[in-house]
Amino acid sequence: MPQLGESCIWCKAPTDNSDVSHVLPECFGNRDAQVLPKGTMCRSCNNYLGSKIEPALVEDPIIHAICVTLRVVDPGDANVFRDRLFDQDHKPVAPPQRNVQLNLTIRADALELEASYEVKGTIRRAFDRRWVARFSRAIHKLAFESFVWLQLRPDAKPAALDLFAESFRPIRRWVRYGEPHGSVRPLVRMPSSSVTHQWEPHLWGFDRHFALELRLFGDWLAVSLTSPHGEVQKHLTGWCSESGRPAWLIGESFGPLAPGKGSGAA
Ligand SMILES: [Zn+2]
Repeated sequence: MPQLGESCIWCKAPTDNSDVSHVLPECFGNRDAQVLPKGTMCRSCNNYLGSKIEPALVEDPIIHAICVTLRVVDPGDANVFRDRLFDQDHKPVAPPQRNVQLNLTIRADALELEASYEVKGTIRRAFDRRWVARFSRAIHKLAFESFVWLQLRPDAKPAALDLFAESFRPIRRWVRYGEPHGSVRPLVRMPSSSVTHQWEPHLWGFDRHFALELRLFGDWLAVSLTSPHGEVQKHLTGWCSESGRPAWLIGESFGPLAPGKGSGAA
């Protein structure tokens, strides 16, 4: 039987990886807060997911804007990871508006300038199934690794779940191999209008299923950890539609989670 620390959480192969892995990528400023121990995943999965899947996170306009606002520093090179709100990958649909306010006070011994600077524009990302699939895989990766991290805590509730159980097979295959091909495993997003420094996973149990809610710097995302592909949308709709806040289903298309919720279909 595969064991955590000896077998890869994604492909179940024996692990050859002596590196710890970060649940939230290091480029988000995650040094030590949420780290999975050595041997949790194999080198091949770690490399593939880090280079092919995780970049979809910062291609997302909201996550990109949050990184810019928080001025997240990449510990790899100590540079600000994201400096410009509008760049080559996040072009505004029209030239951004810039508003500057300057208020100069002249004192006997100094000049004092009170300054504010605002830049405003719209980034539009058209629905593109291949990108949405990568984004979904990246969020499911973050969610499942957060779940593994929660399980490793001494106060884990419920404790000692079998992380290699068949019920996690659909999420494992989706993240690692994009299976079933040509589809998007749905997730729910409740974008917030404000940004915080908080990121936190929360596990929810529903009968025999588990969902994971990620609070990611003011963004809010939820996925099902255990639903078979064909039932994800139905389960998420049932679990999330009671909250009363506008929520969006991101799957084969974008849309409000349930009729009457959200603020109109995209
Ligand atoms: Zn692996």
